[in-house]
Amino acid sequence: MIPVRGYAAQGPTSPLAPFSFERRDPGPHDVQIEILYCGICHSDLHQTRNDWGGATYPMVPGHEIVGRVTAVGAHVRKLAVGDLAGVGCMVDSCRECSACNDDLEQFCEHGATFTYNSKERGTERPTFGGYSDHIVVEERFVVVVPKSLDLKAVGPLLCAGITTYSPLRHWKVGPGQKVGIVGLGGLGHMGIKFAKALGAHVVMVTTSPDKGRDAQRLGADEVLLSRDEAAMAAHAGSFDFVLNTIPVGHDLNPYAALLKRDRTMVLVGVLTELDPPLRGIALIGRRRSLAGSLIGGMVETQEMMDFCGEHGIVSDVEVVPIQSVNEAYERLLRNDVKYRFVIDMASLKQAA
Ligand code: NAP
Ligand code: ZN
Ligand code: ZN
Repeated sequence: MIPVRGYAAQGPTSPLAPFSFERRDPGPHDVQIEILYCGICHSDLHQTRNDWGGATYPMVPGHEIVGRVTAVGAHVRKLAVGDLAGVGCMVDSCRECSACNDDLEQFCEHGATFTYNSKERGTERPTFGGYSDHIVVEERFVVVVPKSLDLKAVGPLLCAGITTYSPLRHWKVGPGQKVGIVGLGGLGHMGIKFAKALGAHVVMVTTSPDKGRDAQRLGADEVLLSRDEAAMAAHAGSFDFVLNTIPVGHDLNPYAALLKRDRTMVLVGVLTELDPPLRGIALIGRRRSLAGSLIGGMVETQEMMDFCGEHGIVSDVEVVPIQSVNEAYERLLRNDVKYRFVIDMASLKQAA
């Protein structure tokens, strides 16, 4: 077994604190990675605080992991010691069901194994995430990271990146389309970069007027302030696609009204109830669709990473030491980050 140091939550109200545990030695198909950086996703906050139920403790969060390969099993083909590697939200799945056969492991019919707050397949052993110094993952669930990208800004691609890239590709966003990205956090700012790179006319839909100043740099063509009713009315019925990343139950009706006839809004942020409920007429009136999307499969995650390599796309990050993780969570709750916190795992050594 490999001794590992990390940070864990011991309960829904306890702050994250140092925690030591063990990981398995790499098997023939495994890759062992020294974690260099790990992004802080809003899902880490939801899960450590048990917003979605089903939390188990101690919980080591983190699923935006990048690092350097330190060992590989005998059957590993795509990675070698010294390579840069990434791990996202999943570390295993059944590999036999129709979803797994279609390279959509996130929808595994037997339940994908998530990087943390999950159980290793066929066991009661909990999985522990990337707020730690090492991880051991099966090759299928490890992504090759292009050397050209700024590594500290790559981690967020593994969740925020794939979660926005996948629906933009699935709904075939491209040139000639007006696309709205709602909620400019970790996910939303990646959505803007991808929609722009795919050739769409991109509108940043935000509650934060100051984020509008970053619109051009991020790749947005327009800024729409969602609390400005007149501006929302002026854009009504004009969008080809809306990607909604708002992390809490909210009034979806004004966002649905932005869509043209026969177009789709995809939810990735709200896992719980909408509040107030969506009125049926918001969809019925123009044959609009409401859909959801969950991260992306491993083949698509590698495709997204390669796309980022080709287009020079990374996340806009604020790097923090792990000792500041609880403060970063509070700032994330206050919507005070541009646009993703990333933990520099070298700080873990200083904690010792
Ligand atoms: P984040 O960094 O906190 O960004 C969320 C953004 O939503 C904020 O920056 C803010 O943008 C906007 N917002 C926040 N509260 C709002 C409110 N009450 N009303 C309207 N807008 C609000 O979060 P994230 O890491 O991007 O994650 C977003 C959500 O996606 C989380 O719920 C996360 O759990 C979920 N998620 C889902 C998947 C999936 O596979 N479906 C994957 C990863 C994460 P403005 O300042 O621009 O308004
Ligand atoms: Zn995430
Ligand atoms: Zn499966």
